[in-house]
Amino acid sequence: MRSERAARAIPVRHKKNVPDRVAPAALGPDTNRARRIVEAVADPELPMLTVGDLGILRDVSVEDGKVVVSITPTFSGCPAVAEIRGDVYGRLVDAGFTDVEVRTVLNPPWSSDWITAEGRRKLAAAGIAPPDSRGSTIVRPAGAAVPLTLTTAPERGLACPACGSRDTERTAAFGSTACKDLYRCRGCAEPFEHIREV
Ligand SMILES: [Zn+2]
Repeated sequence: MRSERAARAIPVRHKKNVPDRVAPAALGPDTNRARRIVEAVADPELPMLTVGDLGILRDVSVEDGKVVVSITPTFSGCPAVAEIRGDVYGRLVDAGFTDVEVRTVLNPPWSSDWITAEGRRKLAAAGIAPPDSRGSTIVRPAGAAVPLTLTTAPERGLACPACGSRDTERTAAFGSTACKDLYRCRGCAEPFEHIREV
């Protein structure tokens, strides 16, 4: 009796080794498998990025064989979310999860800061300027004595993904989708896309 009670005692928490948001008892093998499947789903508009790279996956849980996935949409103007939800559903069903629900979580709203470091690396490798994690910064001339020329000042010193030059200009507010801007590099003359900061 004594030993059984000892075995049932609440285990000592090793706070330093256990991240706060992970509840080890809730993460069974099915949950881990389902999460890996969901994280690997590609974004239809930025196919080099996965759901995991975008940082849009809020939660995956498996209880009594039912999978519940919570996803936060990225840009409100991007129709990709419906497609991603369909892909997530299809992949999980293909993997043998027959009872699947994909929920949309709107709060807190997605921020481009949620794109992972790996996601930013993949975007740059594809010639697309990742969103600036500092948010939409306006580049101003250094030194207060320099007069501001608002009409010609660059909106952003965005680095060209091809040559790294910050001598770039925005040529269109919307690229091929609502979540992208078009830029041109004055250094190498290459046009490139940029993921908007939100
Ligand atoms: Zn360039």
